[in-house]
Amino acid sequence: MARGSVHVQKGLSEANFQKLYGTEELCRAVLLKLRWPDGFQCPVCHGRAHCVIQTRTVYQCDACRTQTSLTAGTIFANTKLELKVWFQAMYHMTQSKQGISSVELGRRLGVRQPIAWAMKSKLAQVMLEREDDDSKRLIGRVEMDDAYLGGERSGGKRGRGSPGKTPFVAAVETAKDGKAHRVKLRRVRRFTKKNIKKITGRIVTRGARVVTDGLGCFNGVADAGCIHEPIVTGSGRKAARHPAFRAVNTVLGNIKSAIVATFRSGSKKHAPRRLAEFEYRFNRRYDLPAMIPRLGWVAVQTAPMPYRLLKLAEDYG
Ligand SMILES: [Zn+2]
Repeated sequence: MARGSVHVQKGLSEANFQKLYGTEELCRAVLLKLRWPDGFQCPVCHGRAHCVIQTRTVYQCDACRTQTSLTAGTIFANTKLELKVWFQAMYHMTQSKQGISSVELGRRLGVRQPIAWAMKSKLAQVMLEREDDDSKRLIGRVEMDDAYLGGERSGGKRGRGSPGKTPFVAAVETAKDGKAHRVKLRRVRRFTKKNIKKITGRIVTRGARVVTDGLGCFNGVADAGCIHEPIVTGSGRKAARHPAFRAVNTVLGNIKSAIVATFRSGSKKHAPRRLAEFEYRFNRRYDLPAMIPRLGWVAVQTAPMPYRLLKLAEDYG
């Protein structure tokens, strides 16, 4: 990729979005296709003959009369909102580089902020589950570093966490030109060798070369079957500018400005979803228009998430 090419990537224009997802009928057809690519199939008897009833989101099997809602069992389950509002939310969450706050999302969708927050959290959960897919592990050369949300990365005691800061592992697969290609960001309770081994095993392919600054916990990288290349840089800001960590430092800079721009409160418990949103967008930045159908596809396969669960802290390694 040419230098700066990410900036000229074309997103989906508002006009094209309207053309593809602008009405309830269009959105229903898209979702129907994503859920049943070969047409409706009864989950009980596998029959295909059906009729559409009630609000036109319930499908009734002609053979056994089982009624199946288009959204039941998906992240959209029991929603009182129109599907087109959900598609608008997907549009705003995927097409802007910085992401969008729930306040701003509520304003754009014409819904109250708590509703926008719940929608955004559910869609971020979809992104999180997608990014945890084993087939998407990083390969080749990977820069890995310890990082923190809500504070200067060089501040405090490394590896121990500091009050008010949310520690996470940043892993960046680099392209031939040394630039960031794909990223993985994982919340970590503490930077220990054991945690690094566990996280590395989940996000990096065995045999990949992982470059770190040699902080003790990163020995866990080798335990996970990767080739560990510690580069001891000294400490402080000088280390952060070392060329071996150019890609990961660039990504961390971008995260920081995205978080500052869109998230006012520093609630630590939802950090994994925030990181997942950033990661999802970053890893798909070269194909922005495809993000909506892809996200929709995962959304119909992601289990419903009641509000009670949304409010809980997410799991992390
Ligand atoms: Zn049936």
